[in-house]
Amino acid sequence: MLRRSALLRASFVCACLTAAPAAQSGSPSWDARLRDATEASNIRASIERLSAHPHHVGSPYDKANAEWILAHFKEWGWDAEIESFSVLFPTPTERLLELVSPTRFTAKLEEPAVPADSTSDQKSEQLPTYNAYSIDGDVTGPLVYVNYGRPEDYEVLERYGISVKGAIVLARYGESWRGIKPKVAAEHGAVGCLIYSDPKDDGFGAGEVFPRGPMRPPDGAQRGSVMDMPVYPGDPLTPGVGATADAKRLAVKDAPTLTKIPVMPISYEDAQPLLASLTGPVVPPEWRGGLPITYRFGPGEGRAHLKLAFSWDQKPLYDVIARLRGSTYPDQWVVRGNHHDAWVNGAEDPLSGLGPMLEEARVLGELRKQGWSPKRTIVYCAWDGEEPALLGSTEWAETHATELQQHAVAYLNSDGNGRGFLQAEGSHALEHFINDVARDITDPETQLTVWKRAQARAIDRAKPEDKEKVRARADWRIGALGSGSDYTPFLQHLGIPSLNIAYGGEDSSGIYHSIYDDFYFYTHFLDTDFAYGRTLAQTGGTAVIRLADADLLPFRYANLADTVRTYDEELQQLVKKKRDEIAERNRAIADGVFAAINDPRRPKVVPKPEPVPPTLDFTPISRSIEVLTRRAVALDEARAAAAKKSPPAAVLGPINAKIAQSEQQLLEAAGLVHREWFKHLLYAPGFYTGYGVKTMPGVREAIEQAQYQAAPAEIARVSKALEREASWLDSIAKMINAIK
Ligand SMILES: [Zn+2]
Repeated sequence: MLRRSALLRASFVCACLTAAPAAQSGSPSWDARLRDATEASNIRASIERLSAHPHHVGSPYDKANAEWILAHFKEWGWDAEIESFSVLFPTPTERLLELVSPTRFTAKLEEPAVPADSTSDQKSEQLPTYNAYSIDGDVTGPLVYVNYGRPEDYEVLERYGISVKGAIVLARYGESWRGIKPKVAAEHGAVGCLIYSDPKDDGFGAGEVFPRGPMRPPDGAQRGSVMDMPVYPGDPLTPGVGATADAKRLAVKDAPTLTKIPVMPISYEDAQPLLASLTGPVVPPEWRGGLPITYRFGPGEGRAHLKLAFSWDQKPLYDVIARLRGSTYPDQWVVRGNHHDAWVNGAEDPLSGLGPMLEEARVLGELRKQGWSPKRTIVYCAWDGEEPALLGSTEWAETHATELQQHAVAYLNSDGNGRGFLQAEGSHALEHFINDVARDITDPETQLTVWKRAQARAIDRAKPEDKEKVRARADWRIGALGSGSDYTPFLQHLGIPSLNIAYGGEDSSGIYHSIYDDFYFYTHFLDTDFAYGRTLAQTGGTAVIRLADADLLPFRYANLADTVRTYDEELQQLVKKKRDEIAERNRAIADGVFAAINDPRRPKVVPKPEPVPPTLDFTPISRSIEVLTRRAVALDEARAAAAKKSPPAAVLGPINAKIAQSEQQLLEAAGLVHREWFKHLLYAPGFYTGYGVKTMPGVREAIEQAQYQAAPAEIARVSKALEREASWLDSIAKMINAIK
């Protein structure tokens, strides 16, 4: 496959005002010096130190880590401080799960220490296995297996005539964000929810288990938040405002993002007796996991008792914020972040991303001593409280919302790293920029550029009919951002252009959010020599220097227009597919197809006919995209023409400020319907998928949730936002064309 990459397109050459400035004529550029100066050994040392003890929100080592990070930023010449918030962070006081009939079994709910892994025995400092922001509860009920617990899984249950009313559902991890599982279960009347890690997904079905291999051992369980973050992330008690000491707070009982039913994660060792107790029909093949039992839906005689109680405490957050002041445009900020808190020791999540970010900061400090002075102000942020609910980033972004919307030109996020391919998602106006960065970064194992590897993989993964398009496109296409990390408040609440970067895709592991995600594990099974840690530091550092020093900010709107067109096409196809499917099913119902194929001994419920969705008129969006495309192309041409001039900072400053605010034109002040915190009309986490991105979420979810009467208004909102963006780009082009 790699040999085929010789056929790939030659690098895209651009003439623009954004080329990285040379340090001195004849010497390497500052970003080239950064790439040279980053060292894997420093990344290894900081990850080893920061992962030495559990460091979740509110723990002593979380605070110690924040202070250690602060001291290093200061040592490297940054102006740094800790900004603190107070947030609701529940921790368990009681966890009980037992099978009460037909046999008795009490779940262990413990991850044992592994002798070879020296930090796995820090029992007194570890959070037990639990799901944060589950409510307290004491429930008993029949068990029902619901596969991944997505809305479509309940449609299958309905065909089998199985209800979860009054039941405790058993869902497996995967396919949707974990917080969606209890949300959908509660909507269907369940009284409790258990989420287990099936060995087929990340246990022995996928490879040798830890400590012999990297996959999840039988008693390993995945901690994690189950807050309803598609409504709003951050402190549940202070929606929309910073959780400062004097903030107005909701009462805990009124917080809408806590779960409606008690929820707990369990291991597959604990899940097996529960699953084995289920009777009822055998599940369809795609519902079967990897345990040596027959997977059935339930309910049966199996009844479970789940009792959970939490201590509902306010806990302090320690965000470390460090600044290097810009020399030419101090009021324009390039913001870079990665969280520092973990569920337990967190060598992989988040330290494999934080270690490289700290190495960037060290080298940026070095370069400054060597005479470099960034034109824009650089702000590095080590967030606290990402794991429970994007707490540190959200509260900081809410506190500084006005300043950020005026001053931030971009936000660059990372959150963990591994071996393999560059992964980048984010604002499509930054797509060309990150492609240019990727063309200058060398993959440490193949010596190809990371751009070439990423593009080769995109070709390999494309559908046959799309391969030619992928080859022909000058830029490798980046994905859109849903949620799942600290970029969310910046992009989706404030409209700050954002990117998320990481390397990965070569190794899989089953220790996510367990006590085994630690230094021993990372150095045995993941980026063991931190070579890709160094590559991430080179990538992040190069991006930061170029954003900080570009005369004209490197945004390319033709990429945005081109990508938005694909969203429009996808939505039109989605409506057509829905119409075809429902019409066909209605016909099958009317013709008696379901009745005729039903097994009289095991009859399923015949579905009811549904109204065929109306056709929707997408012309307003399509027309706005045409206008946006014309304006985008005109602006990109204006930039290219302006590259031959060298205007003074006084002329460029206001143009750059305008470019930085272009993403805000895509926001709607009133926010999305039912979740006004999310204001971006192009991207949001799915209401029923969690982190998976929904592009043009208002329109898409109206279609997916069969609320067709709402769709025309949503189409109009998107169309207007695209027009606002188009005229914004037009005004930028006019400013650039007026440069003498
Ligand atoms: Zn993380």
